[in-house]
Amino acid sequence: MFTVTLKPKRDRPTRQGHPWIFSGAIDSVSGTPAVGEPVVVCAASGEPLGVGAWSPESQIRVRMWRFGSVDPLDEAFFHEKLAAALAVREGMAERFNTNALRIVNAEADGLPGITVDRYGDVLSGQFATAGAEWAKPMVVRALMALTGAKSFYERSDVDGRTREGLPQETGLLAGEEPPERVIIHEGEVRFGVDVRKGHKTGYYLDQRDSRRIVASYAAGRDVLNTFSYTGGFGIAAQQAGAKSVTHVDISAPALEQARANTVLNGFAEDSATFIQGNVFHELRAFRDRGRSFGLVILDPPKFAETRSQTMKALRGYKDVNLIGIKLVEKGGWLATFSCSGAITPELFRTVVAEAARDAGRTLRIVQELRQAPDHVEALTFPEGLYLKGLLCHVE
Ligand code: SAH
Repeated sequence: MFTVTLKPKRDRPTRQGHPWIFSGAIDSVSGTPAVGEPVVVCAASGEPLGVGAWSPESQIRVRMWRFGSVDPLDEAFFHEKLAAALAVREGMAERFNTNALRIVNAEADGLPGITVDRYGDVLSGQFATAGAEWAKPMVVRALMALTGAKSFYERSDVDGRTREGLPQETGLLAGEEPPERVIIHEGEVRFGVDVRKGHKTGYYLDQRDSRRIVASYAAGRDVLNTFSYTGGFGIAAQQAGAKSVTHVDISAPALEQARANTVLNGFAEDSATFIQGNVFHELRAFRDRGRSFGLVILDPPKFAETRSQTMKALRGYKDVNLIGIKLVEKGGWLATFSCSGAITPELFRTVVAEAARDAGRTLRIVQELRQAPDHVEALTFPEGLYLKGLLCHVE
């Protein structure tokens, strides 16, 4: 293996178990490693610190696979890591009454760049980095053996691949072609998941807990489910006894699936309202018509891809929350989220507080919400907390 030597005093994060080494921390490389190839990482003194994956195109030049040992990486290494990831999730399917879980959560599971979701018998995975791409065949073999899944579908159509100098790739990696829609359930609520064309790996498993919690506030209320995707929060609310449900999303295929999911749960197709449009415009249209709702859900996409976009993202969150809050009737509820890793929970609270002040309303947080527990966080990798939300009473 080639050796990457760090600059003096730049070895602290690696010694503390942080998986990323930025280009600026590197002093020298002993040769020209191939894209994704494992490299030995050494402190300036020459002391070996572990093994990572070489990403020559990325600012994150090395992502650590193992710490404290420089043994080469082989099939057994990945088998063991993946078995450990599955062990963390032991019993979760039963505990959360679901057949859909995130089984590999990248850095947080010690497997940088590798994300795998399980939808029933189908695995759907993203290999976002050069190292992940290098490890892909071993990961696929190990996971098929460990899980007994029938299919492994690849959804490496992620922006991060471009930063790594990798092409986008999708398609069957192992087993049989998955069905057009995999039917999953979260408690009693059922959803059809399109692993080929759906967002990310097909569905947003990270909101599982929040869908259940928020739905428990829906009975007897008019519910506005913005950024609805395939209906998630709204259908859960409908099943929990909402008086009415209005879904808003910009994506026609997402809303088509939301309709199908409504029917899948035993409701008539016209039992909910589906609006295809830009949430920023549709919320203003509701406001101008004097419409209000007893429960408003705001679950926008990532407004900040990187830290440098934080200011722009904050304006987006402020705007959507300001109008969203205005639409909540007195004594109603707001569930508001941010999935931008660059926005910390504290910053998000500040933005919602500003929006509430500008809307002239009083909000009280009854619960802070987070990504579901199968989206584990490593204590050594705080960047892994990306999804946070606030469930608020609105006066
Ligand atoms: N709440 C969903 C996940 C939402 S993901 C769930 O629980 O499954 C974000 C969604 O926002 C995507 O479906 C995307 O199509 C939609 N979207 C992005 N920008 C939008 C905009 N400006 N107006 C309306 N929808 C938008």
